[in-house]
Amino acid sequence: MTNVYVESYGCSNSQAEGEAIAGLLKNSGFRIVDNEKNAGLLIFVTCYVKTPTEHKILRRISDIIEEYPRKKIIISGCMPEGIHEILVKKFPNASLVSTHHVNDIVKAAKQTIKGKRIELVGKSNQVKACLAKIRKNSLIDIVPISTGCNSSCSYCCVRLAKGKLFSYPKEDILKEVRNSIKQGCKEMWITSQDNASYGNGKLPELLNDMTKIRGDFMIRVGMMNPRNVLPILPKLIRAYENEKVYKFLHLPVQSGDDAILKKMNRGHSVRDFEKIISKFKQSFRCNLWSDVIVGFPGETEEQFQNTIDLVKKVRPDWVNVSKYGSRPNTPAAKMKQVNSDAIIKRSIKLSKIVRQLSLEKNKEWLGWKGRILLFKKGNKKNQWFGRNCAYKLFIVELEGNNFGKFVNVEAIKADKAYILSESV
Ligand code: SF4
Repeated sequence: MTNVYVESYGCSNSQAEGEAIAGLLKNSGFRIVDNEKNAGLLIFVTCYVKTPTEHKILRRISDIIEEYPRKKIIISGCMPEGIHEILVKKFPNASLVSTHHVNDIVKAAKQTIKGKRIELVGKSNQVKACLAKIRKNSLIDIVPISTGCNSSCSYCCVRLAKGKLFSYPKEDILKEVRNSIKQGCKEMWITSQDNASYGNGKLPELLNDMTKIRGDFMIRVGMMNPRNVLPILPKLIRAYENEKVYKFLHLPVQSGDDAILKKMNRGHSVRDFEKIISKFKQSFRCNLWSDVIVGFPGETEEQFQNTIDLVKKVRPDWVNVSKYGSRPNTPAAKMKQVNSDAIIKRSIKLSKIVRQLSLEKNKEWLGWKGRILLFKKGNKKNQWFGRNCAYKLFIVELEGNNFGKFVNVEAIKADKAYILSESV
């Protein structure tokens, strides 16, 4: 049977699709290899959320085809939905199996290796739960709970590829979690484009049922749009009270200026964002991540300053700072763009503030004692990476194989990226 190499790009959701593609193919007799040289079939799980990412992936596929003209190629992920024409023109012999057709990968692979070009694109309501997987980290199950989004942020091309929100049946998701615990997983990453929109307000119920599942495991809730957190906030906070749920909140705000948020069509205000954070902070010692886009069309220096002021005020543990880049077929692409020098300057300025904040936030944990889940071995001898109850990254030195163990530590030194600890 043919050797297959799978290369995945993008968000956790996309990584989960790559793991499922490898799992489904292995279960039907293909051999999964870890490099393109030894493979007859190469599958790229693509992302096109940003222009640089798109260009990098297109260049990678071009280089591969030039170096290995006889190898078979399948392009999967979001690109077949988002930039279909470009793919057909650039890679006329490649099969396309989009993010909506992952469950049909075996059929497509069998046809493609016989030299037949397959195209499986277009919206579908495939449930990508309970699929066989080859996990990158055997401790971590990336649990997709829905696909698509009902919001329409004016800069976003993801929703154009993913389509409208389709929430997976709760029973399928719970079955996935039960199965992955049996397979030794200790961490569940709840993932989708906007987890707060699950089942139009059913995320708290889902979390409550998930925490009732027997086993010593932790749940990380992925990114949520503030507009969909507000209606479920009290219930969500109660669901987070369960010790199995990491006190980790990933809440993209994108801008600290209400006029810009309006142009982004985010559907929430700066005040809404602050309200959610203060409710969480009143309830838990939480680890807050956010996302900001700098240089959105029309953003003035004053409006950018509002973003800086907001970040300094709410003091997130981390902020993903993105330089605005127009994406195909989005309303924002038609707006008057900010010049790229200003965008770069703003990105550098905000990133510097974010790094300083990360160090200060990690320093606040010094002296903390508690248990962490060891999920990765470090490069140094006896070095282990772990996560505490707030999904803060810890490093500890411990002899022996401690992969997947919960160990008790004390935080002794802070870095901007992690907290150094010793076992107690
Ligand atoms: S919430 Fe907005 S940015 Fe996120 S996927 Fe939906 S439309 Fe895109």
